[in-house]
Amino acid sequence: MMSHAGYTYHRQLMGTTISLTLFVDHKIAAQAVFTLLEQLEDIFTVNRQHSQIMAINRAAGQHPVAVDGLVFDLIYQAKQASLLPNSYFNLAIGPLVKLWKIGFNGHSVPNAIDIQQRLALTDPRLVELNANARTVFLKKAGMALDLGAIAKGYIADLVKVMLDGYGISQAMINLGGNVLTIGNSPISADHHWRIGLKKPFTTDDSLLGIIKVKNKSVVTSGIYERYFIQDQQLYHHIIDPQTGYPLDNELQSLTIIAPTSLAGDVYSTVIFGMGIKTAITYLKQLNSIAAIFVTKDQKIILHTKQQYDFEQLDHQYQLINDYI
Ligand code: AMP
Ligand code: MG
Repeated sequence: MMSHAGYTYHRQLMGTTISLTLFVDHKIAAQAVFTLLEQLEDIFTVNRQHSQIMAINRAAGQHPVAVDGLVFDLIYQAKQASLLPNSYFNLAIGPLVKLWKIGFNGHSVPNAIDIQQRLALTDPRLVELNANARTVFLKKAGMALDLGAIAKGYIADLVKVMLDGYGISQAMINLGGNVLTIGNSPISADHHWRIGLKKPFTTDDSLLGIIKVKNKSVVTSGIYERYFIQDQQLYHHIIDPQTGYPLDNELQSLTIIAPTSLAGDVYSTVIFGMGIKTAITYLKQLNSIAAIFVTKDQKIILHTKQQYDFEQLDHQYQLINDYI
């Protein structure tokens, strides 16, 4: 579709609406991107029996499984993220995600004994990687990888490489809550891309504000994305690897602005459970990462090292600019 905002191509994939914005009408490149996305979804998903991740999960406790280079690389990166000190990211969270079924039919609060049993199957150190043979082995029966918190980021970065191959150096790819901007925006006077920050728990795409970035990824994890309510209590899809229950702190969402979409996707989960105070201390060591915390008591806290322009749209929330 042609508009003043460039050429935008849409496709339903990976459980969401994917959009790709270009500034030349390059249908071949757009088609190649969507084909790549289809192929990658097919190998990374845990929702299809024939995916490579499912092959690894089925062989848990039995034998290592040889995988493609990209799959191995993503699992390697996911393991690294899981082993970071105090990380809330865990690539072996699969047994708990399956138990909770959040976002799928039949969800309900599991009983505490089942949660304890599944917790014993989520130690990321039991994901054994052999780089020479390119194999992955889950050492206990019942273990399962879940790359849902990292795959989109990894994939968005691959799209950038592919577009580069077509000579495209200005583009935006949106994988649903996971945006990667490539180069400058040719259509705004200040050359920045305008990325909306979603208002939690609204169904009509309301925005809290707009963050302006260039050549950066903007990735949001939020408790409103997939959840259910039971006995007035909200249960969402980001699981605390220590307790086996959904992470419970002051946050509604956490947005990470990072040079790569992989970093954005990783850190939005690594940090989510820390809560704001610890997260801010943690972020001080990471030079290229900025964060936007949205809290249950309606604050938007911008934690950045370079000055970002944030246009507030929703004034029910209080904006706190923690620019250091
Ligand atoms: P995201 O959409 O990036 O916030 O990731 C959420 C998805 O990651 C969930 O739907 C699960 O598939 C998976 N997940 C849930 N909890 C964790 C966790 N603690 N570490 C890694 N992945 C998780
Ligand atoms: Mg993530």
